[in-house]
Amino acid sequence: MITSLYQPTRDEIASILEGEPRYRLDQLWSGLYTQFQHPADITTLPAALRTRISNELPESLIEVTRSTSKDGDTVKFLWNLLEGNHPIETVLMYYEDRATVCVSTQAGCAMACGFCATGQAGFNRHLTTGEIVEQVVRAAREAALHSRRVDNIVFMGMGEPLANEASMWASIERIHGDIGISARHITVSTVGIVPGIKTLTSRPLPVNLAVSLHAARNSLRDELVPINQRYPLEMLMQTCRDYLYEKRRRVSFEWAMISTVNDTDRDAHELADLCLQLSPAAHVNLIPLNPTPGWPTIGSSPARVEAFQRLLRSLGVNATIRQNRGTEIDAACGQLAAGQPVTILPKQLR
Ligand code: SAH
Repeated sequence: MITSLYQPTRDEIASILEGEPRYRLDQLWSGLYTQFQHPADITTLPAALRTRISNELPESLIEVTRSTSKDGDTVKFLWNLLEGNHPIETVLMYYEDRATVCVSTQAGCAMACGFCATGQAGFNRHLTTGEIVEQVVRAAREAALHSRRVDNIVFMGMGEPLANEASMWASIERIHGDIGISARHITVSTVGIVPGIKTLTSRPLPVNLAVSLHAARNSLRDELVPINQRYPLEMLMQTCRDYLYEKRRRVSFEWAMISTVNDTDRDAHELADLCLQLSPAAHVNLIPLNPTPGWPTIGSSPARVEAFQRLLRSLGVNATIRQNRGTEIDAACGQLAAGQPVTILPKQLR
């Protein structure tokens, strides 16, 4: 593996700096993870050392484009990975009281959910810890230009985080321990990889778990989220219960509302039943389906989304409608395709 700037741990950086005075490590480390500076700009370091670090430890993300929504609240970065040149995306979202970075964990995705642009494009490779951490640092560098601090991280970009759990977890430790973002402000979103959730349950930090449910009966979920064929709902729910018991953190379910497919009263009743199997009951995030090139169905109407929400609430389940961000720059949920032309492969080739 080539070493990039944000891959090495603090101890590994210490050995790279061997022979330098001890305080150089602190200067470099805080330059990287507190000030979000490029080594060339860490002026507390002597020029020769800055040059050496820039050469030996290059950044791993080459910026291709940076698109900003009209209201300026959403910024999408398209990067090429230095290693292998694969495109990936990161989204930075400013809210009144916080700034959130949505990070990718894989170049592409192998989960093949048909309604998701990343799923439609297929899988290239896992991201390294450094590549994941660097997305946060580079977004934080942009936020700092606007005097904003990143304080919330969602693993909801391209890829399936729990299919790349080890690298993802190491990135969480860096994001938590060095960038200083608390575990309750970190959310891992998964299609429902049961062994991955189990590993996450055994990890020391109580990060938030979001499960992309989208259907609450196996026959429909098998179609929408194909991994359900391997980890069906009963197994998934048991694993969520264990997570909740261990971490004492509420689990949330994501539900992309697809007109006439999963937005009927029947779906709301089935979903409520699943939510109420957890205690406290799972929170539901409703997301009107965003259009993607390779999926013919459309999102539910705003009226239908609201009616679905009301029905869930009347059944005792908390549901919020997620504000869509950055649709016009293709930065919204499920739209991250990294500028790749979308080809739909027959199922057996995925
Ligand atoms: N693979 C992980 C991380 C991706 S998170 C996961 O599936 O959870 C991205 C979220 O957007 C997921 O909940 C995903 O199901 C949802 N999504 C995918 N395509 C979408 C679309 N076209 N419209 C709205 N949401 C979508």
